[in-house]
Amino acid sequence: MSSVDRAATIDPPIDPETVTELATRIQGPVLTPADEAYDAERSGNQTARRHHPDLIVGATGAADVQAAVTFAREHGLPVAVQGTGHASAAVAADGGLLITTSRMQGVRVSPGTGTAWVAAGTRWDQVIHEAAAAGLAPLSGSAPGVGVVSYTLGGGLGLLSRRYGFAADHVRSIDVVTADGRLRQVSAEADPDLFWALRGGRDNFGVVTGIELDLMPVTTIYGGGLFFPADSITEVFDAYVRWTAHLPDEMTSSIAMIAFPDAPMLPPPLRGRYVAHVRITYSADDLRPGADLVAPLRELEPFIDTVKEMPYTAGGTIHNDPPVPGAFESFTALLHDFDSTGVHALFALAGPQAAVPHVIELRHLGGRLANPPAVGNAVGGRHARYAINVISRLERAELSEIRPAHERIFAALEPWVVGRTLNFLNGADDAKYVRSAYEPKDYQRLTEIKAAYDPENLFRLNHNIPPAGSQGS
Ligand SMILES: Cc1cc2nc3c(=O)[nH]c(=O)nc-3n(C[C@H](O)[C@H](O)[C@H](O)COP(=O)(O)OP(=O)(O)OC[C@H]3O[C@@H](n4cnc5c(N)ncnc54)[C@H](O)[C@@H]3O)c2cc1C
Repeated sequence: MSSVDRAATIDPPIDPETVTELATRIQGPVLTPADEAYDAERSGNQTARRHHPDLIVGATGAADVQAAVTFAREHGLPVAVQGTGHASAAVAADGGLLITTSRMQGVRVSPGTGTAWVAAGTRWDQVIHEAAAAGLAPLSGSAPGVGVVSYTLGGGLGLLSRRYGFAADHVRSIDVVTADGRLRQVSAEADPDLFWALRGGRDNFGVVTGIELDLMPVTTIYGGGLFFPADSITEVFDAYVRWTAHLPDEMTSSIAMIAFPDAPMLPPPLRGRYVAHVRITYSADDLRPGADLVAPLRELEPFIDTVKEMPYTAGGTIHNDPPVPGAFESFTALLHDFDSTGVHALFALAGPQAAVPHVIELRHLGGRLANPPAVGNAVGGRHARYAINVISRLERAELSEIRPAHERIFAALEPWVVGRTLNFLNGADDAKYVRSAYEPKDYQRLTEIKAAYDPENLFRLNHNIPPAGSQGS
């Protein structure tokens, strides 16, 4: 159990007969803290903060979700949801009812319409695989193991995002169980307010059981990574920021400073080293200009260069995010006009000399991310030029050191900060930042839609948007 895990509820307040009665209405497992399978069921990729619900329903489909939501409402239990647990328990359920969707798997690609229907518990790697067979690609992100639904409805910054925009901008319809227990299929035509709010407001409006997405006609990309040594990290970050000032929308990239552990599973040149890692995805009908665009970065002499033409199905190798579960604390912000002064302010506090080892990731935004989508949604931050994430693993530092270090870094970055993005909110104090993930008028509209669909705030074990008129709205 990690240092930020909460104490488990030993005696569930729900009496055993009531639990047994619920189990007769649910096909999947219904678990209490007394069950052996409880711990495994509430575990996800992020192990730092886990839910400690009174009850877990391992849903097998929409009917289980409906029964679980109805039960929770009748018994006054707030509802939490867990997909693959990559952000798990950003706001941990301490009591309440947790619905897990890992049994709800499935992808159905429709090559004729260039779309896919994806079940709630599905990971990106399954969609990437199915779409590739039809010569198509989804707007997936850096890690293929991340869950499709949560990533997409939290905005979804992907490998192709400067070319096509946010993943949430390419959602056709959403199957969702709302607080009244109803299963609705929402789209631009059916429940348009709810459709607007779910795309950006994510888990505040119901439990999504499936989602219909656009796929893109992409099979091959020019992509990979450039690795630079520790002594050039500040110079490379500086050059990267200048490089991003004049790029076509077809180029999506990010840069990270990574402190690699001295671990045998890593290639020898990376073990125990601090590096700057530039991640490239160039996606266009003609990939030939990709090499010319990358040339200024190659002049800085990376010691590893893996950038080449590759199938989109190999896109997970570009960031090479660790696929194994781990405990981490992270902090995020959206930045505008980041520059050399900002880079130096950042590395004065968070460079290789810092007492707490950090991963610092700067993602280049803009391009089509800045355009409003064809069917409007609640996603904010369209005017930002970069997203920055600072991630610190709890195996390598104490939480009591990490949090103040993150606060100092973000205080130094304050002149460039213009907001947050929901998908990367993951720290303990994130609740106070939810509002800044949205345009002020959109946040107000979200609270009004919340009041219409979830007036009791049943779905509050999340980055919460309270109903209009309630405390905190
Ligand atoms: C290694 C890594 C790489 C990442 N890369 C990217 C990236 O490239 N781009 C990007 O935009 N984000 C990225 N993220 C962030 C990621 O998109 C979010 O953390 C996302 O919420 C993870 O979803 P999940 O299902 O995997 O996690 P979970 O922890 O299971 O879910 C996160 C939240 O989503 C809600 N949720 C889950 N399923 C449902 C559902 N069916 N209905 C309603 N609400 C639901 C829950 O409230 C839950 O708290 C990354 C995260 C990690 C850890």
